[in-house]
Amino acid sequence: MTIALETRNLVKRFGGFVATNDVSLKVEGGARHALIGPNGAGKTTLINLLTGFLEPSSGEVVLKGEAVTRLSQHRRVKRGLARTFQINRLFARMTVLESVMLAVCERRELGARWWHPVGSHGEAIDEAACLLAQLRLLDVAHSETRSLAYGKQRLIEIALALAAKPSVLLLDEPAAGVPTGESRELFETIAQLPREVTILLIEHDMDLVFRFADRISVLVNGGLVVEDTPEAIARDKRVKEVYLGEAFDG
Ligand code: ADP
Ligand code: MG
Repeated sequence: MTIALETRNLVKRFGGFVATNDVSLKVEGGARHALIGPNGAGKTTLINLLTGFLEPSSGEVVLKGEAVTRLSQHRRVKRGLARTFQINRLFARMTVLESVMLAVCERRELGARWWHPVGSHGEAIDEAACLLAQLRLLDVAHSETRSLAYGKQRLIEIALALAAKPSVLLLDEPAAGVPTGESRELFETIAQLPREVTILLIEHDMDLVFRFADRISVLVNGGLVVEDTPEAIARDKRVKEVYLGEAFDG
């Protein structure tokens, strides 16, 4: 068993409030791992600690056996830890292929010179095309990103994150704002990504979580309550109590 990503006794305090309470989480290599918990449980805070957007009060973040706790967000991406961001304005008028090419070339450090006809960027083009195929975006390769449905835009964001060739991909509610009809397809596409990429995902919709995850961790009041297979989580009394009053019929 290889551990792709780990936290050791991670704590985050905002003033006197403990948003992350001694979290020791292990995400196995190749896992489809979901982090669930009620609103305000600290899921987004934990993701922000993992990416380096927030600095922990104490504890460690460990990527492939090496502590990255004090590395910048950018350095963590270089080490293989990626997250999605909403497409910014820069990409709105670009086509899907252009956007993904830009991200691929950025990783390859061809920078802004990629459109110059110097040499061949054949490999970068192949790589971008491969990403579009993985995310089922080939049919919209030449459409402007802003013209696409939300579900497709989320897939572009994932393609951009994958262009960094991460070993671990963090997804914070990828289906948020996406109509129900599209979210199922979005999740099917995510589920079929190559297993070299470990995925840690936050999602509200329990249907999607149970379809997708092979491992689930439950966060309540900043602390991990239980971690297990979807089958065991669905039967877990503590989890049922936590979700009492919310729709939970996993
Ligand atoms: P979740 O994503 O599980 O809904 P969050 O991680 O967003 O939960 O928030 C966990 C708790 O931490 C909430 O009570 C929230 O109000 C608090 N919190 C999050 N960020 C901050 C911040 N920057 N300053 C103060 N409190 C925060
Ligand atoms: Mg959140």
